[in-house]
Amino acid sequence: SKDAGGGVFHAYEPQLHMAAEERRVLEIALRSAVENNEMHLTYQPVVDAESCTLTGFEALLRWTHPEYGNISPAKFVPLAEEARLIAPIGEWVLRTACEEAARWDLPARIAVNVSAEQLHNPAFAGFVAQALAHSGLPPQRLELEVTESVFMHEGTMAIQVLEKILDMGVRLSLDDFGTGYSSLGYLSRTRFSSIKIDRSFVQGASKGVKEAIAIIRAVVALAESLGMATTAEGVETEEEHQMVQRLGCTKVQGYYFGRPLPVEEARRLVTRHDGE
Ligand code: C2E
Ligand code: CA
Ligand code: CA
Ligand code: CA
Repeated sequence: SKDAGGGVFHAYEPQLHMAAEERRVLEIALRSAVENNEMHLTYQPVVDAESCTLTGFEALLRWTHPEYGNISPAKFVPLAEEARLIAPIGEWVLRTACEEAARWDLPARIAVNVSAEQLHNPAFAGFVAQALAHSGLPPQRLELEVTESVFMHEGTMAIQVLEKILDMGVRLSLDDFGTGYSSLGYLSRTRFSSIKIDRSFVQGASKGVKEAIAIIRAVVALAESLGMATTAEGVETEEEHQMVQRLGCTKVQGYYFGRPLPVEEARRLVTRHDGE
């Protein structure tokens, strides 16, 4: 630390200790979070960039601990991945999202985030089949969102699992594109329906950052030539919407169109109102 006072060790040690302690406490709490009904899903609208009509929702996980309150998935999902707790939590997410979406009047798509570790389990394809069978949700309405990290370790296993899932008719999208260690090889080996362009590029493009604009243009061109859609993530303003639409993104998602909604509010958007 700059103000030498108690010395470097005193300045840093308590913080490191807190972080480790917090992680330990959260990890223990995570183990029983699902069975204690502390988890729920929110649903964020995904809309067509041109017509602004709803095409579906992305299911986003929320954890409310009775004592610690709301904990962000940006914090607990990586922890669950490291503690090998993401598989049971992810199965609950998949089952819940499918059951909910199966009740909607309108055939909106439901996108579910899947961690790399879940795809390194050969039984995962079976869980997907089970979630579809139990809920009655047509496979075409389910979309799984995976990130590039899936192809990093045990990539061959993940590709085999993804192939089985694709053969059921489930769609696949590539999340957070451009933020990880990109290799374009798997884009030709795996049948993605869409590429999701990270909010950082959307923000940059609307601020006029040349590189961000060039990257979105290139991703859109690549996706088009491979027959894939492109979803711009984290669109917060009209200017950002106009920019990504002009750059050719086919779908948009973000606070400008809707925040992640509680299930009842999401359901209202996909309820057919007869006689209106
Ligand atoms: P993600 O998959 O990239 O999800 C998009 C994140 O951006 C969500 O954060 C969403 O609430 C947020 N977002 C949406 N629109 C806007 C916007 O206009 N502006 C800004 N600033 N943010 C926006 P959230 O819900 O906190 O989730 C964070 C991450 O946690 C997700 O990023 C995903 O990686 C992970 N996650 C969430 N739910 C699940 C899940 O069920 N399973 C797994 N494995 N991961 C999940
Ligand atoms: Ca996602
Ligand atoms: Ca994303
Ligand atoms: Ca993300």
